[in-house]
Amino acid sequence: MTTHFPFDNSYATLPERFFTRQSPAAVAAPKLIAANRPLADRLGLTLAADDEALARIFAGNEMPEGAAPLAQVYAGHQFGGWSPQLGDGRAVMIGEVVAPDGARFDIQLKGAGRTPYSRMGDGRAWLGPVLREYIVSEAMAALGIPTTRALAAVETGEIVLREGRMPGAVFTRVASSHIRVGTFQFFAARDDTEALQALLDHTIARHYPEADGPTGLLKSVVAAQAKLIAAWMGVGFIHGVMNTDNMTLSGETIDYGPCALMDAYHPETVFSSIDQFGRYAYANQPQIGAWNLAQLATSLLPLMPDRDAAIESFTEIVNGFAGRFDDAWHHVLRAKLGLATEEEEDVSLAFDLLNRMAQGGADFTRTFRALSSATPEDAAEAFEAPAAFTPWFEAYKTRLTRETRPVAERVTAMQAANPALIPRNHRVEEAIQAAVQGDYAPFHRLNDALADPFTDRPEIEDLQQPPTETERVRQTFCGT
Ligand code: AMP
Ligand code: MG
Repeated sequence: MTTHFPFDNSYATLPERFFTRQSPAAVAAPKLIAANRPLADRLGLTLAADDEALARIFAGNEMPEGAAPLAQVYAGHQFGGWSPQLGDGRAVMIGEVVAPDGARFDIQLKGAGRTPYSRMGDGRAWLGPVLREYIVSEAMAALGIPTTRALAAVETGEIVLREGRMPGAVFTRVASSHIRVGTFQFFAARDDTEALQALLDHTIARHYPEADGPTGLLKSVVAAQAKLIAAWMGVGFIHGVMNTDNMTLSGETIDYGPCALMDAYHPETVFSSIDQFGRYAYANQPQIGAWNLAQLATSLLPLMPDRDAAIESFTEIVNGFAGRFDDAWHHVLRAKLGLATEEEEDVSLAFDLLNRMAQGGADFTRTFRALSSATPEDAAEAFEAPAAFTPWFEAYKTRLTRETRPVAERVTAMQAANPALIPRNHRVEEAIQAAVQGDYAPFHRLNDALADPFTDRPEIEDLQQPPTETERVRQTFCGT
């Protein structure tokens, strides 16, 4: 069987100023690390059985028939500062496929060589960020969180210069599109209303066919991002670089650079080495989401006939993000606590637990998973001083007496809302370190385990454990 992708390239039919046609630069010695065959099936791709043939495709050395490779241009606010021109500096979108169910997906090679948007960069990626994105994006998908996906990873056989001489790699990303807030910003900043209109039409047709014009699109994206960020927070995910060029219109998580899931709960947690002031800390994510959406709103203004009226209505829509986020977040928290009925005090009960967890250094995942068992009192073990947990637990037990759902049903529902396994940062690092030494066993083991994150089983016990003091990873570096 030869590799076949059912290409149907729509972005490539947009005006030429949306992108640069660009083929990936061939690499020296492509070697397959992983190909995600279940995802390939879902997309309707046919993958060659031969790893060498696949490696050539996923390295960009050979293009499948029907590909229309291009690098997209965009702009963006990075850490609040405006960059008028960014773009795929180390990525090439090779085309779009339409899956058997009619859903459309971009296929992009990340680390595919220099493009006109590379600026000072080499257009390459090293193995570390490639494996991190593979593991974490697939884990997020298994956790039920909207995200781009990992189709493949290959070694290039070339050296990439970073903190040292690192092995090069290429990552194949699948996304329902790569349209970013920064894509709209790019054309708005150039007063290119014609391009903005084309981008709007393309985005609406692709993601929100029911949306009515710029206002409808803005409302839809506000709703999607509110749900997405609440879902992130429900698993302790910290994106790390919520720049406007890393926020999608589709509502999918994108750009797994210095991201990580936290172990011990603390709202101010930051992992990214470049986030000195904690702009993108765990608890800041909803506010940053709203800020980014305000940039989207600003970019859509040129498409509105009455600017003053549009400013007023867009402000109201963006201000509505906070309420939508709160609703989504409270929904997540209720599910995590197993509360099927709704009471006024539920949210403060949840926040009280989070505060105690922050003070007591409690592991986020372990606390909620223990609560989701037949012996919820075991959650005390996640706290440095269980005394901090006990009074909360008494209040929780009282609250549970007012639940009408049978206990067994509640426990089952809670276990589907509180994962047994997350991609713990020290395990991700360990998999990367081993891979750099040529040992991919930890990477494959971690990936396989994370495909089923809601079931306890003895063989994953070590992967469930929080890091010891010496294992803890304090900083995560950008994906460059
Ligand atoms: P990121 O922070 O990963 O979202 O990337 C920000 C910008 O830098 C994007 O325009 C990237 O394409 C570009 N970039 C990051 N790494 C590289 C690289 N190694 N070579 C060229 N461009 C890069
Ligand atoms: Mg980016």
